[in-house]
Amino acid sequence: MDPVLQRYRELENKIREYLPHADFDRLESAFHYADEHHAGQLRKDGTPYITHPLAVAEIVVEMGLDQESIIAALLHDTVEDTDATYEEISRLYGQTVADLVDGVTKLTRVQYTSKEEEQMENLRKMLMAMARDIRVILIKICDRLHNMRTMVYQSPRKQKEKALETMEIYAPIAHRLGMQKVKWELEDTSLQFLDPIGYQKITEELSVRSSAHEEFMAAIQQRIHERLEQEGVAHTVYGRIKHIYSVYRKMYSQNKTLDEIFDLYAFRVIVDSISDCYYVLGCIHDLYKPVAGRFKDYIGTPKPNGYQSLHTTVIGREGMPFEVQIRTQDMHQRAEYGVAAHWKYKQGLANAQLGSEATFEWVRRLLESQQDADPNEFVHNMKVDLFADEVFVFTPRGDVINLPAGATPIDFAYSIHSEVGNRMTGAKINGRIVTYDTKLSNGDIVEILTSKTAKGPSRDWVQLCRSNEARNKIRQWFKRERREENIVRGRAMFEQELKKTGLSIAAISAEELLPHILKKVRFNSLDDLYAAIGYGGMPTVKAVNRVRDEMIRQGQQVRDTAHRAQPKEEREAPPAAPQFYSPGILGGGLNNCLVKFAKCCSPVPGDPVVGFITKGYGVSVHRADCPNAQKPRTEDEQGRWIPVSWAGGDLPACQTSLVIAAKDRDGLTLDVTTVLAAAKAKVSSIAARGLPDGHATVTLSVEVKSREDLNTIINRLSRIPGVFQVARSTG
Ligand code: MN
Repeated sequence: MDPVLQRYRELENKIREYLPHADFDRLESAFHYADEHHAGQLRKDGTPYITHPLAVAEIVVEMGLDQESIIAALLHDTVEDTDATYEEISRLYGQTVADLVDGVTKLTRVQYTSKEEEQMENLRKMLMAMARDIRVILIKICDRLHNMRTMVYQSPRKQKEKALETMEIYAPIAHRLGMQKVKWELEDTSLQFLDPIGYQKITEELSVRSSAHEEFMAAIQQRIHERLEQEGVAHTVYGRIKHIYSVYRKMYSQNKTLDEIFDLYAFRVIVDSISDCYYVLGCIHDLYKPVAGRFKDYIGTPKPNGYQSLHTTVIGREGMPFEVQIRTQDMHQRAEYGVAAHWKYKQGLANAQLGSEATFEWVRRLLESQQDADPNEFVHNMKVDLFADEVFVFTPRGDVINLPAGATPIDFAYSIHSEVGNRMTGAKINGRIVTYDTKLSNGDIVEILTSKTAKGPSRDWVQLCRSNEARNKIRQWFKRERREENIVRGRAMFEQELKKTGLSIAAISAEELLPHILKKVRFNSLDDLYAAIGYGGMPTVKAVNRVRDEMIRQGQQVRDTAHRAQPKEEREAPPAAPQFYSPGILGGGLNNCLVKFAKCCSPVPGDPVVGFITKGYGVSVHRADCPNAQKPRTEDEQGRWIPVSWAGGDLPACQTSLVIAAKDRDGLTLDVTTVLAAAKAKVSSIAARGLPDGHATVTLSVEVKSREDLNTIINRLSRIPGVFQVARSTG
């Protein structure tokens, strides 16, 4: 018979032992499908390629996995290496098998490079997350185990690469899944290529020792056996030398020679019940002197991966220490095969007291939840999303980045560095340009395109990302980098809101007011206030309300001051009221807000002034000494008087009215007009009126540039014979 077919028949027999009702036609069909598709392909050792999937299936069977897993193991390389497709496998062997093959294929395609330990942990998690069905990981581990067994035929470079990957990724995963036997073999075969000299040295020394200690080992085994027979305890006992990598690690990490390693030899006693375990422990301690502090009860307190046993180290008659591990058959199966043992021993875990540590908590939960479940349900639950909340992706350099599920390239970019996010101009997933809202999948290789001239993030990115890190960094950017934009944006928002109150930015910018206003809104400058509004850190309405309140409070004070400092004619207006406006040149002040000068007092530049927010006509500006500005106010009016001041620089001429009191005489009006003409004052109206008591008043309207000019005019008019008072009109 064809040796390959012969080998398949042997496999079939092993399957029959634990899966008597398996669909053997379907299994054989899968074998032939793989055989035909791999036809012509050879392994590095020259054997037909089919020997590899067959060997992987053998390991899967040894672990006692289900029929689906065996078929998937036979087919595991067909999609990657032949023209077989997911669809075809799904059609022929069902979707479960196709998904398992697809899962193994995806794991095979992942490229690893050696990384920091933290990275390795992420890689392991990524593999788990990618697998989705734990059987995918188990099949992949079997695949890797066979590849490591046959690694000797590969190039030295490939040997090292694969050995490192196995040591760093697959052995720890096998350990986490409680698959001790597989873990040891993976470690030992990896070590063989990672440190061939060290490996050989230990192997040789151990073999020298084991032949030298053969008698010693046999004697101990015999003594334990006899004692337990005598006690009537059903058991299996055997001795072994610890696996090479564990010896290697002790030698190198603790810098010990082989002779100094405490328990090179280990004996295992397998019994039927937990009570037998503790009984046997007592017998061992009676036979041999226990080493203090070396007893460990992993039955009462299992290891995080579910491992259970009693460990003790004792001293033999020859003074040689050795370890004894005592466990039940069930514990032994789980120690050897871990999670996989569930398929073999379908009764599940009896009285399982699994580890309580948070490490791979999900495995524990998984195992616990399976105690009473039937096998089919167990397989079903194996499909749970192991890391539902996370997604693991690669940088182009091969680093693994862990992000929240649903993350987009924006999250990825900001997780690399703020600058990568801020300079992002595009993103690629697996080499293809994608949009920023594309959701990342496990194993994706994500590349961020950047440019130094990038405009920076867009405000809608905040909605597209899932991680707080990205969100905060984007906000930070707008807060810092886009200060100018925030100021413009914030100022516009603020101004619009402010307009509703009739106030202007110029009004609140007045030198003596600004510090109070800034104190009230708790910012150092108006720009800071605008920036906060623009960036979203300060609600506009809140800012305006505070400013307005402060203006009202300050307005009262300023007016009081202006009133007390009622200026004498010669004195300049107090510097208390700088920078304000007049119609047309309002400049920064009360933008978009109508300003007019009150007709009652017609102020001119330089006059102390106050403003009144009218209903519907903007601000009316009065002289501070205008009776209208001083009469008692209603509560409504109170809030509408605001401090105003003149803008600096060139102000346009203002019209004001003067009232001249004089002795009535001929030529008075002529003299007045002559003085006005000499002062180059523009007169728009002049009216004289004789009074019954021989006096006369001349009322005139004149345009002046400033209060200074007005004072000059008043002085000259005062010197006209017969004039005894020149006053400004006050309504
Ligand atoms: Mn393979």
